[in-house]
Amino acid sequence: MKTHRCKTLLVALTVGAGLGTGLGMVGLVAYRLMAQHSPPGPSPMMTQDAHSLDSTHDMPSDSTHDTPMDYKALSDENWKAKLSAEEYRVLRCQGTERPYTGVYEQFWEAGTYVCKGCGAELFRSQTKFDAGCGWPSFYEGIASDRIREIKDYSHGMIRIEVRCARCDGHLGHVFDDGPQHTGLRYCINSVSLGFKKAEE
Ligand SMILES: [Zn+2]
Repeated sequence: MKTHRCKTLLVALTVGAGLGTGLGMVGLVAYRLMAQHSPPGPSPMMTQDAHSLDSTHDMPSDSTHDTPMDYKALSDENWKAKLSAEEYRVLRCQGTERPYTGVYEQFWEAGTYVCKGCGAELFRSQTKFDAGCGWPSFYEGIASDRIREIKDYSHGMIRIEVRCARCDGHLGHVFDDGPQHTGLRYCINSVSLGFKKAEE
């Protein structure tokens, strides 16, 4: 009885292996046919990159597209090593720099403000204005998908916290008492920002 079952199993295995090899061959032939029909030239990813470089100012060619780094996966220890103590306190612990002390509070050069944590382009100098509140203020971000908004109930207030969408670093808050067509005031810590001077 035992022997018979073993033989049956052996036959089943043999048939199964034969079938598997057959299927494998079919798969290989199909793969080769597909490879032959693939168009030559750059991969779709490369085509997209080239397109981004050719496009206008609506799609800034910052490192958002060519950096595969997952900033959200960085640990607290990674951030502590990467940032200064004050940058860590503001960006990673939702801190606030003292008003009228930040390097960009009264700074009016033409260029682009980037996230201090990851380098993502966040605000243009043309949208910066003097709100008199003690922090750099902007009425518009570069693109809505660069900035993440979160309801903030701390300090007995209801405010909208703004964070960098790529690295989740705390930037500041957004209020609805701003000028221009948006009516918004992005009140941002200088410490959360870096600056890239415009190329003229
Ligand atoms: Zn960032």
